[in-house]
Amino acid sequence: MKNLYFDNAATTRIDERVLETMLPYLKESYGNPSSAHGMGRTGRLAVETSRRKIASILNCHPNSIVFTSCGTESANMALRCAVTGVRLSHVVTSRTEHACVLQTARNLHFSGKASLSYVAINDQGTAQLTDLNELLEKSHGRSMVALMHANNETGTPLNMALAGEICRRHKAIFFSDCVQTVGHYPIDLSQMPVDMISASAHKFHGPKGIGFLYIREGLPLQALLTGGSHERNMRAGTENVASIVGMAIALEIAARNYAEDSKHTRQLKLALKEKLIEAGAVVNGVDNDSALYTVLNVRFPKTQATENLLLELDMAGVAVSGGSACSAGKGGSHVMEAIGASDAINIRFSFSKYNTMEEVNRLGVLLEELLTLQI
Ligand code: PLP
Repeated sequence: MKNLYFDNAATTRIDERVLETMLPYLKESYGNPSSAHGMGRTGRLAVETSRRKIASILNCHPNSIVFTSCGTESANMALRCAVTGVRLSHVVTSRTEHACVLQTARNLHFSGKASLSYVAINDQGTAQLTDLNELLEKSHGRSMVALMHANNETGTPLNMALAGEICRRHKAIFFSDCVQTVGHYPIDLSQMPVDMISASAHKFHGPKGIGFLYIREGLPLQALLTGGSHERNMRAGTENVASIVGMAIALEIAARNYAEDSKHTRQLKLALKEKLIEAGAVVNGVDNDSALYTVLNVRFPKTQATENLLLELDMAGVAVSGGSACSAGKGGSHVMEAIGASDAINIRFSFSKYNTMEEVNRLGVLLEELLTLQI
């Protein structure tokens, strides 16, 4: 059987057009964009054109886009540099954030740089914003809030407008990890009440190893990586020209096709959801149209029939991922633990424009076989 890839929240296949656009910057126009000669200037032009492209799609000033190596670096930069640069003494986040935020917040806390609070979440993973308001009200120093736009495991979204309004009311700096939403939803930063967002190209059919951090103009951050004046002194290191060009093209293609691709992908998610529910699964996270259309996380009760499902899917050539039933610290998912689902067999199916209904049907047949075979 041909392999089936349903792990697009982990990473996506690069779009051929992206790869084609990148190649000349690896093969011929490989000059260092900081060099003054012609080949250098070609690289510089490519970097700055890409920055303007991304800024125009997200409706922000090009100078507020800092290129980084990935979503993880962007989150590290946002948290570490805001805490030191803006002199924040309190970080508020949630237990369902990606490890790049959670671990960084914990490191800041354990090194004595900031106190740390967690916003309560409900059993669907939704951040309780009345709790955010109370935490900020009680805070003594200035706070930084780090809440993701949508969760990578459950697809549960944040009420960004309300979270932003609460942060503004308390003069807190608001960073949102948008790694699962940039390239999948129209984002207008002129209307979004955030100070910083992170993104990563490999989540929207761009290359791996490239991302960016949006920093609202005027926010006095210090650089995370020092040793050069790149990125207006915000991130030292020779720019990854080909990947920057690739990321901008990937975002451009995504933005051009948001409506069509999201409609197609949502149909796949709904079709698989129907099959899984028939097979006894329950959806983890928010189960309505506001959830990520790319992510479907379901749980099965732990039985003989479901226990090895992930392994069997893998053996059948299906790529999915699981919040396993293991307890935290043994490789289990901290998100499943936080929403109280860690006793179940949890499987995340995540979709992209490259998946087809025929693939969903094949997966449905396979799941039926695996589940009935073992009962
Ligand atoms: N944030 C979220 C929500 C993610 O899903 C991921 C990737 O899994 C990251 C951050 C990290 O991104 P990167 O792989 O580019 O470091």
